[in-house]
Amino acid sequence: MNATAPTPVRASTTLSLKGKTALVTGAASGLGKRIAEVFADAGANVVIADLRLADAQATADAIAKKGVKTLAVAMNVTDEAAVDAGFAQVQQSLGAVDILVSNAGIQIVAPIQDFTFANWKKLLAVHLDGGFLTSRAAVRQMIASGRGGCLIFMGSVHSKEASRLKAPYVTAKHGLEGLAKVIAKEGAEHNIRANVICPGFVRTPLVEKQIPEQAQELGISEADVVKTVMLKDTVDGEFTTVDDVAQAALTFAAWPSNALTGQSLVVSHGWFMQ
Ligand code: NAD
Repeated sequence: MNATAPTPVRASTTLSLKGKTALVTGAASGLGKRIAEVFADAGANVVIADLRLADAQATADAIAKKGVKTLAVAMNVTDEAAVDAGFAQVQQSLGAVDILVSNAGIQIVAPIQDFTFANWKKLLAVHLDGGFLTSRAAVRQMIASGRGGCLIFMGSVHSKEASRLKAPYVTAKHGLEGLAKVIAKEGAEHNIRANVICPGFVRTPLVEKQIPEQAQELGISEADVVKTVMLKDTVDGEFTTVDDVAQAALTFAAWPSNALTGQSLVVSHGWFMQ
């Protein structure tokens, strides 16, 4: 070969999840739903786990038309017995889980002096208890299968930054980074990777609900909540999309080695820069 010839560019390869089983929590809506669709497009069998079984079933039925196996599971991620039963159901119908996306989440906004203890605990339970219970169940199956696997936690820019009115949410999203790092260390010997995706604002039902609530709490218009609160620090004034986040999830899920573990990826139009 001519020593001065440029290194040949490798043809781009399509990320594949063929033969994998992926369980996505909170997949009846928003980010989780889009991640499940994109994983199915990449060849994975997908489990739609959500509180809302009818919506989970509708999502699973629509995704099944792509030619992969799907399963809808009623799962309250804060309930230990429900999580373990849901994973047992998956094991029985599709085999061990290879990919977990711990995504189910809620938002409650209020200034700290008005936050009720009940709402604090409710939010932490969905994000942190849910993250722990689903990852424990997934890790058990990944170790038993001998195949290892990949865990993805749905963090947020609020895993890195604070915003007013969001004490438990910011606390929980920071906490998920710690959980992912511990699992990255403990999981390595079993070929288990754990990472976090940190989206900026995405117009899902979770955010649509927050716009009028924040407008009321802050005494500003809904348009100003979008412009001066949600998108103020982005580089282009744009919302992040469900597709942006799903592509990040696909990259983590399909990554072939432990080179990418214990990491967080911020997908936020530059709102937060590492
Ligand atoms: P969403 O409201 O559209 O979907 C959340 C889903 O979680 C719903 O289907 C809901 O039924 C389910 N869910 C809620 N509590 C549950 C529980 N206890 N057990 C099982 N399922 C439960 O919201 P989304 O915007 O798609 O949010 C998904 C995740 O992304 C959340 O963890 C959220 O914090 C995170 N996130 C969202 C944004 C955003 O701007 N939308 C930004 C950063 C991070």
